[in-house]
Amino acid sequence: MTVGEVLAASGLAPSEARLLLSAASGLSRATLAAHPEAPLDDVVTGTFRALTSRRARGEPIAYLLGKREFYGVTLKVSPDVLIPRPETELLVDFSIERIPKHGSLLDLGTGSGAIALAIRQQRPDARVTAVEQSAASLRVARENAGHHQLQVEFLAGDWFEPVPGRRFDVIVANPPYVAETDPHLGQGDLRFEPRAALVGGADGLDAIRLIVRRANSHLVANGWIAIEHGMGQDAEVRRLLLEAGLESVASQPDLAGIARISVGKYNPD
Ligand code: GLN
Repeated sequence: MTVGEVLAASGLAPSEARLLLSAASGLSRATLAAHPEAPLDDVVTGTFRALTSRRARGEPIAYLLGKREFYGVTLKVSPDVLIPRPETELLVDFSIERIPKHGSLLDLGTGSGAIALAIRQQRPDARVTAVEQSAASLRVARENAGHHQLQVEFLAGDWFEPVPGRRFDVIVANPPYVAETDPHLGQGDLRFEPRAALVGGADGLDAIRLIVRRANSHLVANGWIAIEHGMGQDAEVRRLLLEAGLESVASQPDLAGIARISVGKYNPD
């Protein structure tokens, strides 16, 4: 069969079909688009069919390809880690502006390492620490750091547990924030992602409450915390930040206009 025939028979959207055929054949998407008449051997078409049927069952493209780009960094991803999402790039934008020269950053629940590694790539002067409680995720994150030769201190443990007594210029987190009864958990990519990376208790805010309450003990004076959250959680997260004594509390919208991160500054005076 030719490239064109195989793509047409896949039943997938053309862009997804080309991505998967590119992975199966080793040919670039540009080559596939330019040469629909090119013949494909049985091994390639077999591999492509296997990927196609997994995709048809709903498996995320990122897990099928084993990678996802985030802030210009190509990251290995496996079903052990949350798939990095474009809206999370807001946390990177915020951090690279706020970390002082040679300052420090703490990424809580790093998963694939996406946030920590993107920040370290943009700010090689910064000391970046990343915490993760899942050993399997931590292996993926370390592999990503090694692959890109980015220097990050990875620590195993629960939120602030592995950094007792340490203070940072900026703390970021994309914690689990989906409510356990949220119907989105049964739809799309979320069905295949680790529950521990998604679900934050009854209202989704369990992890955020815990992180915000302890933030002041781990921020330097005038240090910032920035937390990602879900649609409609911004008012409650701002309230939690204010309740914890943080100042300059505000939320920022993502590209879809949804208030997606909330931030606050530690003023010990
Ligand atoms: N952004 C994810 C979603 O709603 C949730 C990730 C998270 O809980 N941190 O699809």
